[in-house]
Amino acid sequence: RLFNQLQEAKGNIRVFCRCRPLNKEEASAGFSVVADFEAAKDGCLGILAGGSTKKAFKFDRVYSPKDDQVDVFADASPLVVSVLDGYNVCIFAYGQTGTGKTFTMEGTDHNRGVNYRTLEQLFATAQERNEIFAYNISVSVLEVYNEQIRDLLATSPSSKKLEIKQASEGFHNVPGIVEAKVENIKEAWDVLQAGSNARAVGSNNVNEHSSRSHCMLCIMVRSRNMITGECTRSKLWLVDLAGSERLAKTDVQGDRLKEAQNINKSLSALGDVISALANKSSHIPYRNSKLTHLLQDSLGGDSKTVMFVQISPTDKDLGETLSSLNFATRVR
Ligand code: ADP
Ligand code: MG
Repeated sequence: RLFNQLQEAKGNIRVFCRCRPLNKEEASAGFSVVADFEAAKDGCLGILAGGSTKKAFKFDRVYSPKDDQVDVFADASPLVVSVLDGYNVCIFAYGQTGTGKTFTMEGTDHNRGVNYRTLEQLFATAQERNEIFAYNISVSVLEVYNEQIRDLLATSPSSKKLEIKQASEGFHNVPGIVEAKVENIKEAWDVLQAGSNARAVGSNNVNEHSSRSHCMLCIMVRSRNMITGECTRSKLWLVDLAGSERLAKTDVQGDRLKEAQNINKSLSALGDVISALANKSSHIPYRNSKLTHLLQDSLGGDSKTVMFVQISPTDKDLGETLSSLNFATRVR
């Protein structure tokens, strides 16, 4: 609760910047590092932007390549818990392909990311509170590709187009999607695995496909206070966004062009929504993309949002890095 009060005083959007390590290929090719973490402790990131120019960017937190998955989750975990208190929450990773969005959200078997840790934390906290609250937790796994929603937990491909509906005030859903009830971390993990296996079906290059679609995990929580009888319903979105890089000039035709335009459209829609919220604008343009429309209940109002802006450390990615950092500055 104290955290929630602090949070309200500071606004509901947190922006964290995470820089991945230089990889072997980059090191042996002699690329230089442009990211400077000297003032990272204070949330400042320096970027050597050519010549003697050094740009500074301010975040709620900056993670250097030395920070691990535990450090990163420590900042997200209070928000995760607030979903059990009835708040809607949205956590997403933004950035160029190859900067660690999937590493941050999904992680690896030996280096679990935010998704796994979130579910683990939810079950642990629910357990601690089980004398007062009865919780019911279910998950959906979706993909948004070319402005179309695909249910990654559907056992047979649906012929009907999945659409977002407003079921009641402040509550949107996608009729027909699978909501898998999960009782513990093992069950939840199996469901996530099934979703990620389904993602690979029908694409000849899984990595390429996943960098061009938004992967969205929704955790729905229903709670009942067994003493007062009060019930709440809330949801937590965990989103691995499509790569934010601009299209190469050699790829400006056909399917690739359409994909790129749809990614561009949805990422700018996300930026527009968050900046409209930050500016307390009277109209929030949620309906401009499937992504923002899906996230509507978890962006704005009293919901809590965390954005991880992922960047590469090297000079070869400087242009994309600056563009991601500028996007982040716009929403902060
Ligand atoms: P994206 O999803 O943004 O395209 P990935 O998560 O696939 O990027 O990361 C690209 C590569 O960099 C992967 O091999 C990943 O394991 C590695 N990587 C990313 N971030 C980190 C990190 N913080 N520490 C170690 N390896 C990382
Ligand atoms: Mg990825």
